[in-house]
Amino acid sequence: MSGTKIDGRAYAQGLRERITKAVAGLPKQPTLAVVLVGEDPASQVYVASKAKFTVECGMRSLEHKLPADASEDDVVALVRSLNEDPECDGILVQLPLPKGLNSDRVIAEIHPDKDVDGLTETSAGRLSLGKPGLRPCTPTGCVMLAKDALGDLSGKHCVVLGRSILVGKPAALLFLEQNCTVTIAHSRTKDLPAVCREADILVPAVGRPQMVKAEWIKPGACVIDVGINRVDSIKNPGKTRLVGDVDYLPSKKVAGSITPVPGGVGPMTIACLLRNTVIAACMRRGWDSPEILDF
Ligand code: NDP
Repeated sequence: MSGTKIDGRAYAQGLRERITKAVAGLPKQPTLAVVLVGEDPASQVYVASKAKFTVECGMRSLEHKLPADASEDDVVALVRSLNEDPECDGILVQLPLPKGLNSDRVIAEIHPDKDVDGLTETSAGRLSLGKPGLRPCTPTGCVMLAKDALGDLSGKHCVVLGRSILVGKPAALLFLEQNCTVTIAHSRTKDLPAVCREADILVPAVGRPQMVKAEWIKPGACVIDVGINRVDSIKNPGKTRLVGDVDYLPSKKVAGSITPVPGGVGPMTIACLLRNTVIAACMRRGWDSPEILDF
């Protein structure tokens, strides 16, 4: 018997449809501002894709492009002007910034009410204190997919593999918020396979291609693979392909449900960013947050 494939693309599309409905019911269109510094090709693709989906969901997208040689003060000045702009509901600074620019300083300038990436210290503090706030996008997407696969997560043992600020730590706190019993494993964890085998929900966020083997997975567990790794293709020499942190095909035979890479957690990140933009607009403008966006 084989586990169910968790279709992140389909879930993200459904979420975008809910966002579109929610936006249509708001008194005014929310606006997302995206700041892109430099000409990194991957960042350009991400920004274009964010803008496209923002508009598709009925919101306004503002793109602010600064040259690669922009100074840190230039970027900070732009963020400050967006903080002041009453029409701007969400600010996203596309990372990584060009070498020499301190992304911590730039992120710290984003007003917490407009922090749709959930990366400021205030957002992290609110998450850690269990107070309402804007939650990081990829970890929120992980919880949504796990809830969709399993229903109520209460009491389930969730093992998060990785403790980064961007993914691992917030994912652990978000699963805790769902009343899971949470273990955070990392590079110093002893006997990682044994720790992973304890998991009802396993969330690898490591960045090591196919590190998690089928033998590490408890039969029937839900596996939410955050890893995105580019490796050489065996079928097409000279080409590359994307794989997750999990050895997918053998693991699918053991897991109860599992996300593929690509097509699992990846598509959830932008959908959750759009959801955060609606939530930010509602919080700041004093509108009721649409229930249709709950999960
Ligand atoms: P980081 O490199 O910041 O963190 C990796 C974490 O994995 C660290 O906490 C590290 O532990 C841990 N780790 C590294 N090696 C091992 C090991 N051998 N055994 C156990 N733990 C280990 O990565 P990110 O959190 O930013 O990203 C993780 C993955 O998720 C990447 O593949 C990235 O591409 C992907 N990603 C996907 C997104 C999406 O789907 N949209 C968004 C963001 C990230 P320690 O702290 O001890 O060093």
